[in-house]
Amino acid sequence: MEVTTNMPFFDGHNDTLLSIYLPSRSKGRHFFEESTKGHIDYPRAMRANMKGGFFAMFTTPQSGLEPTMDDVIQQTEEGYEMELAPPIDPQYARMLTVALMAKLFRLEADSKGKLKVVRNIEDLKTSFFKEGVLSAVMHIEGAEAIDAEFNNLHVFYQAGLRSIGPVWSRPNIFGNGVPFAFPGSPDTGGGLTFKGRELIKECNDLGVLVDLSHLNLKGFRDVARISTAPLVATHSNVHAISPYTRNLLDDQLEMIKESNGIVGINFFVGMIREDGKNNSDTSLKEIVRHFQYVADKIGVAHLGFGSDFDGALVSDEIGDVQGVPKLIQALRDAGFAEEELHLMAYKNWFRVLESTWR
Ligand SMILES: [Zn+2]
Repeated sequence: MEVTTNMPFFDGHNDTLLSIYLPSRSKGRHFFEESTKGHIDYPRAMRANMKGGFFAMFTTPQSGLEPTMDDVIQQTEEGYEMELAPPIDPQYARMLTVALMAKLFRLEADSKGKLKVVRNIEDLKTSFFKEGVLSAVMHIEGAEAIDAEFNNLHVFYQAGLRSIGPVWSRPNIFGNGVPFAFPGSPDTGGGLTFKGRELIKECNDLGVLVDLSHLNLKGFRDVARISTAPLVATHSNVHAISPYTRNLLDDQLEMIKESNGIVGINFFVGMIREDGKNNSDTSLKEIVRHFQYVADKIGVAHLGFGSDFDGALVSDEIGDVQGVPKLIQALRDAGFAEEELHLMAYKNWFRVLESTWR
């Protein structure tokens, strides 16, 4: 009953592919079988009316053993700092990226039409409104898998790649990511390299979205100067509320507005809370504040969801993808009008993708 009235939504970021691919993360779950583990699987996505989103291909640290927070975190008086993650071997990144792409294509092939990898705006708009279909946009988070000649970029593009974050929170041949710290400024390190600036132009030419989440401030400004496409931070929040290194300063929000771009609000509690704590006892009201701030500052046309599901700790009130309708209701209760909710839920994403893709 309530199921059919949920508003359809599109989400700017999930790590579900990696989560179901890596045995250490999957805990035996499968994408088309409902689980109580993780955040997204097909049955839960459909119940929530999640109809599309960016599916990230992310390369984990090379050891295969992911560091725990306790290994790398330094407590400070006001919060914490983490060392910037070391660079990774591009060969290893290519191998894992191709494996995750193959995982997505195999899921699509086995899905009997339930999962669709979308490659242009018409595909997306058609499958998004089809009953029972989940649309996936292929996204690379951290471009280590892309070589300096951009050969892989062209091959991956033909396979269906439509979005790239030039860096994750580590350095590569394209630029520098921000280390995780709270409180902290995103102004860490230099801007894009020569190759990084070339990557932006190459992406513009192909119609591949450039994702600014994880990029440092100088790199962000470089993209703002070079790129001909709307500026997009797929999963980032408001620095004025939660002064985390990955969150956006007011002047970054202004640049996004000027380019007619979008911010996907991240549900990771450590990027929502004023105290930056990794505490899932975080209310929907605290998440709503980020939406209100961005709406007041640059307008509701520049807001979307960027959950970080299957990659981050989210509020207990959200729990998993099935909590998104509760968040939409909380936004409604906070005074957002029905048309504004539709803009945030998917229409803004459609506008940005339409003007970015070929
Ligand atoms: Zn991320």
